[in-house]
Amino acid sequence: MVTLETIDEVREVLDSVRASGKRVGFVPTMGALHDGHLSLVKLSQLHAGYTVMSIFVNPMQFNSSVDLAKYPRMLASDLEKAAGARVDLVFAPGENELYPRGVPSGATAASSAFVRAGDRSLPLEGASRPGHFDGVTTVVSKLFNIVRPDVAVFGEKDYQQVKVIEQLVQDLCFPVRVLTGPIVREPDGLALSSRNLRLSAEERYHALYIPRSLEKAREMVAAGETRSARLVETVCDNLERSGGLRIDYVAIVNVDSLLPVETIEDEAQLLVAAYAGDIRLIDNVRLVRRAGG
Ligand code: AMP
Repeated sequence: MVTLETIDEVREVLDSVRASGKRVGFVPTMGALHDGHLSLVKLSQLHAGYTVMSIFVNPMQFNSSVDLAKYPRMLASDLEKAAGARVDLVFAPGENELYPRGVPSGATAASSAFVRAGDRSLPLEGASRPGHFDGVTTVVSKLFNIVRPDVAVFGEKDYQQVKVIEQLVQDLCFPVRVLTGPIVREPDGLALSSRNLRLSAEERYHALYIPRSLEKAREMVAAGETRSARLVETVCDNLERSGGLRIDYVAIVNVDSLLPVETIEDEAQLLVAAYAGDIRLIDNVRLVRRAGG
């Protein structure tokens, strides 16, 4: 495995990889790697002969400087995990390499070009974290232009992000195929997340109410419930029963447009964001109406 910090070096290595006829797969991450990230590496390896992972905590997608400062950084152990998963190249740039004119935000937004995310970025995470998805689409566009992957792999854990990236690729004609991997969970159901490292034992206990309430809703739909309002109410009740979660949103939306749906015709996506202490957790599940229901 080769680890590189500069754009020029990455381009040089990947030019010769492409010249050898290999397809390039790409897995963008912010590090603090866990089995969710590594499952995306496996998916990349099924579709490409050479897999690149980026590890970069992107300041432009954080709207809280406290959250950015507290985000776990552990490059040495990440590199061991990436090598163990047979990643071919890790790109771990410093902030200046990707944002030589500084990070576009607020007043400095006009100083450098950046990519504004489309309308799928507006509800849910976009409403709670203004500017977050502009940070995501900007850094992903830069990384796509550096790596020029044939396929790029994203996790359904960040469901809205997948939809925003799909829209980015369509709207800006990026020559890349977007693949998605299912959510990897702990045996007790908690979705793996780099942020879980910061949960106390008590907060982690409260956090378990998130996957449990999603599962409850999934079962209700499979058993015939189609009213979103009823389902959202049940999920909120369950989350509140934890006694330690603060709900940001619970929403049932169209699986592609992310617009709210009142009645589940066929399928829909249920998304939750909630705080355990000061740690913001997100999770989601596909709701599928039973056949003939
Ligand atoms: P992050 O490092 O949190 O930016 O995540 C990098 C990629 O890993 C994103 O595409 C995430 O959606 C994905 N990812 C994070 N957690 C999981 C998980 N539990 N299961 C599957 N993919 C995940």
